Amino acid sequence: MGFDNGALRSLEDALQGMLARLDCRCEAESVPLPEALDRVLASDILSPLSVPPFDNAAMDGYAVRLADLAAGAPLPVAGKAFAGQPYDGEWPAGHCIRIMTGAPVPPGADAVVMQEETQAGENGITFLAHPVAGQNIRRRGEDLAQGSRVLESGLRLSPRELPLLASLGIASVSVRRPLKVAIFSTGDELKPVGSPLQHGDIYDSNRYGVRAMLSRMGIECLDLGIIPDDPAALRAAFQQADREADALITTGGVSVGEADFTKQLLEELGEIGFWKLAIKPGKPFAFGRLPNAWFFGLPGNPVSAMVTFDQLVQPALARLAGQQFARPLRLQALAAEPLKKSPGRQDFQRGILSAGPNGLEVRSTGSQDSGVFSSLSRANCYIVLEQERGKVAAGETVTVEPFSGLLL
Ligand code: AMP
Ligand code: MG
Repeated sequence: MGFDNGALRSLEDALQGMLARLDCRCEAESVPLPEALDRVLASDILSPLSVPPFDNAAMDGYAVRLADLAAGAPLPVAGKAFAGQPYDGEWPAGHCIRIMTGAPVPPGADAVVMQEETQAGENGITFLAHPVAGQNIRRRGEDLAQGSRVLESGLRLSPRELPLLASLGIASVSVRRPLKVAIFSTGDELKPVGSPLQHGDIYDSNRYGVRAMLSRMGIECLDLGIIPDDPAALRAAFQQADREADALITTGGVSVGEADFTKQLLEELGEIGFWKLAIKPGKPFAFGRLPNAWFFGLPGNPVSAMVTFDQLVQPALARLAGQQFARPLRLQALAAEPLKKSPGRQDFQRGILSAGPNGLEVRSTGSQDSGVFSSLSRANCYIVLEQERGKVAAGETVTVEPFSGLLL
């Protein structure tokens, strides 16, 4: 698992190291369309039909043959076509057909002239503008051609895709079963919310962040609660997670001091690497395999736990779930104030991005200590500062990554 004897490992290197080992673990199952929201497609969707399925009118107006308009005389109305009620009667020369939006265009029609460009009179309809061939006609297959690939395997279905699938008449889809992830927090000092604190205790906050992020990813969570720093309790929790879940995420207990202890246990049960990441916050990180489940050990500091989940664990879980993972959007912005930074680690500072007079500008949320939760809760983006960069002066350009689904 790449134990790296104290050397700092870049985020990218750690991510690629993990992804190289991970594959989709989730079998395919068929679900009815309304239940497919947030599920991951297990195969490509090919269009079973053409959309639209027939040439139809894009406007309310009149279907015409261009030859009939050449004389410039008004055209009597031969019939009416409504959405769902095609006109299939006679269409004599020198006539037009009243047509409504979505109605099938009668065979032979060259264009639909919108109502606003016509005038109705005693002798029929006068056309005020000269239509071109094809005007206001939505062609069969113009949106989706029959047999074409509409959606790709690995896509997580959002409200944007469900109506598309419905338009193709697809009633059920093949999706991956949800990934199941066990979580627990470690630390003798941790107490669950709702109980009183003794001196030296703090509330376990990480589990609520990790659970929430799993839920945003559509992942099933097995919450094993708080496990004390006790070998027997930890061993039992590791084993239960290994039996019942695809992956285990813990927070705390991977930094120097405690690591030896967890490390011993994990090395006995599986194959785990303890990494020192060249990122701030979030230096200690563990990754590896129990007999059945994958293991991700996040740092205990609350902000570090959230950031390492977002940047490292999220893409890894997506891989296990069979989901395509798109790298988050990164933009350039002007630092609206100086930013503290020392060379050596890539910083994920928490910032507030806004539109300024000279384009995007970003300021810090204040103390960037990895224990200061308000630095995260007030932020709407990361300020991603390069590993070797030093302090940033006001007005310099920096890279920002707006928070996306997971942290919003
Ligand atoms: P550790 O990685 O276990 O050494 O923890 C580092 C710091 O994070 C310590 O101050 C812990 O008290 C704190 N911490 C660890 N786990 C949690 C948690 N679940 N919720 C809040 N703080 C935590
Ligand atoms: Mg601890």
